[in-house]
Amino acid sequence: MKMIEGNQKLAPPEIPTALQNARKDFPILKREVNGKPLVYLDNAASTQKPQSVIDTLTRYYEYENANIHRGVHLLSTEATGAYEEARQKLATYLNAADSAEIVFTRQATEAINLVAHSFVEPIVEAGDEIVITHMEHHANIVPWQLLCDRTGAILKIAPVTDNGQLDTEALKNLLGPKTKLLSFVYVSNAIGAINPAEELIAAAKDQGIPTLVDAAQAVQHTTVDVQELDCDFLVLSGHKMFGPTGIGALYGQLSRLEGMRPYQGGGDMISHVTFEGTTYKEPPSRFEAGTPHISGAIGLGAAVDYIESVGRDVIEDYEAKLMIYALKRLDEIPSLRVIGDFEKRAGAISFVMENAHPHDIGTVLDTEGVAVRSGHHCCEPLMRRLGVVATARASFSLYNNHQDVDALVDGLKKVNTLFG
Ligand code: PMP
Repeated sequence: MKMIEGNQKLAPPEIPTALQNARKDFPILKREVNGKPLVYLDNAASTQKPQSVIDTLTRYYEYENANIHRGVHLLSTEATGAYEEARQKLATYLNAADSAEIVFTRQATEAINLVAHSFVEPIVEAGDEIVITHMEHHANIVPWQLLCDRTGAILKIAPVTDNGQLDTEALKNLLGPKTKLLSFVYVSNAIGAINPAEELIAAAKDQGIPTLVDAAQAVQHTTVDVQELDCDFLVLSGHKMFGPTGIGALYGQLSRLEGMRPYQGGGDMISHVTFEGTTYKEPPSRFEAGTPHISGAIGLGAAVDYIESVGRDVIEDYEAKLMIYALKRLDEIPSLRVIGDFEKRAGAISFVMENAHPHDIGTVLDTEGVAVRSGHHCCEPLMRRLGVVATARASFSLYNNHQDVDALVDGLKKVNTLFG
């Protein structure tokens, strides 16, 4: 990922040709909030949806809707084809070697729980260790705590520095013969820090330790190549990358998935069922029990098409420039402190203000039509580590522009006047 230096002096970034029409592609951006044009800066929580994704969902329900995999009639065949095509699109997007390495889940959260249940639980014994970091989203903490409760395994936490950076050397020192998995966040949803994924995975691999990358905040901002990363598992959520809610994915190396027990039991994941015993399908079907979120997967495929039509390099480059502009403009507010001081940042800027609680900041900004998130961002341990109970977070996407940043800064100046 590209470096973003917070003290660089720059004019507002120009919108590249491939993004000139981006705002028009997202119909919701036309609406007003509290009588003001919507300025949507809560993209780390969920992104908005382009018309192409909305149209794909409508078309699916208007023309193709049927259950998949089990029907011989045309609608079922078409729906099956579209569902499997979406799997292939996501595989290509992540550069997975085989589309069977993509398991559709409800979201990143379910994908992590799946790995905990089906991969880690059968191989851990009491006293074994799972290593995560101090900057994880609760989705990459709680499943491991539950696993430790069930198995007697121990959760080891790699520290974060006062600046909000992962202490990579300390993390490496935690890895050892008892480590059964290293699971870490690629890009922090709470503070926007980017972790050196390749370096961490290589360190784990040196000791034969499997890795899981939480890429929920990475895949929409940059190119993520699972073969280059060489991770065993990677998880994502569709709704954070312009797709529908309720659909996400687990990438797993085929050799790993093949050796894993089912996650849930039900229809479509079996080869044969008798009362004496049941045999299971190969991955990915083994992990997709029951009727899946068919339209969600197809919608996610359309979201991937949308991102590809813009180009991930274009998105990464533009967002990096917008972030520099935003950091520069936030500097104008003396009572404001950006949380996390690091060279690499993507997606989110978290901040606090001297006299205003983050919820007050969020509320005042909302009256100006500016949507940001306030709270612990599902990262309570990280907040505590950085000495704050909550922050306000502005998080960016490809359709944001410098006017959005200017509206944010104007709103924050109002907060300053009201609470300063
Ligand atoms: N990991 C990270 C880094 C996230 O930002 C999020 C969502 N905020 C999740 C995991 C969980 O995503 P979901 O709720 O879609 O499963």
